[in-house]
Amino acid sequence: MSGWVKEGRGRGAGSGGGGGDESGGDGIGHARLQMPLGQGEAFARWLGQARALRLPHGFLVEGARGSGKSTVIEWLAAALLCPSELDRDGPCGVCRTCTRIANRQHPDVHVLDLAQDEAERKELKKSFYEITVGQVRQAQELLARHAVEGRARVLVVEDADHLAEEGQNALLKTLEEPGVATFLLLEASRPEQLLPTVRSRVQRLRVLPLPADVLEREIFRRLPAAAARVPDAIALSGGSLGQALAACTERAVQLHHLVQAMLADVHRLRPVATARAVLQNVEERRHELDAAREFLWLLRAELRRRTSALAAAADGSYGASSAEPWTTWLELTLAAERDLDLLIPPEQVLTACLVQFVPA
Ligand SMILES: [Zn+2]
Repeated sequence: MSGWVKEGRGRGAGSGGGGGDESGGDGIGHARLQMPLGQGEAFARWLGQARALRLPHGFLVEGARGSGKSTVIEWLAAALLCPSELDRDGPCGVCRTCTRIANRQHPDVHVLDLAQDEAERKELKKSFYEITVGQVRQAQELLARHAVEGRARVLVVEDADHLAEEGQNALLKTLEEPGVATFLLLEASRPEQLLPTVRSRVQRLRVLPLPADVLEREIFRRLPAAAARVPDAIALSGGSLGQALAACTERAVQLHHLVQAMLADVHRLRPVATARAVLQNVEERRHELDAAREFLWLLRAELRRRTSALAAAADGSYGASSAEPWTTWLELTLAAERDLDLLIPPEQVLTACLVQFVPA
């Protein structure tokens, strides 16, 4: 049960906030707890409940990759555990407890994630990414012990939509009889992958998109050098700060140019060459997967941007037919992403996807 791996880390779609510096003199990392931006009144109410330890025992945070789910979950976990009596509406954000949560070093916060599975997957020679029933049982054993520091015990399940079915069934037991002050915080970008029995036992909260002015302010604050990239980053972000920041990296800018060139003339699209261009200069195989995901994400974001621009300009008069290839292409990128989850080689996945973009 180690590392709290941030959403998007090593997967292209960028982490939402939080610096990742490691360890200061006292052994606690330097990352500061980040307050989620623009999550509205419903979230504020849940925070109040968390402070009073009256949060539902199962909580599912939903949203696209990079939408800030991890930031929301960290803040909720801190609201449950932060001992500051002065802050009734949320965690203080700066105490030892909050800081350790931000640095994934708190003994009462256990995390299930795919990163652990990565090692196990290699060992078991499994052919797909999932969180195994073994991982769930191990986490349940940890939860069955007393809270180390008192207030609560928290199990975070990142990528809960990658839980094996058997693992979900095992988790049901904890959702039904969680034990005193025990909270399960689940995170999923595809909640429909969860069993109905799991979904019906958790409170669901969707991460809200951020308005453009907030995104703009945050990009300027965090990446002052990326000013020229701001309009594109906002347009591609879908209201997610994580994705807006991810769209500002040099690599994302290159991939975005590739996407634009490709969409400018699909008749001349060369699928194999394009797939190779996406994966070129990528050192390890694992990073190839990241590059492929990032490309698919940018392609999808660009298609969404064009679809909504067209809808706004046409004002209904010119209908779905002219947007139709874009809708089909959007679906193709989603299917390709699922193929990557099945560990089909990235070059093969991208090529097979792009071939279908070329008009017959
Ligand atoms: Zn605190």
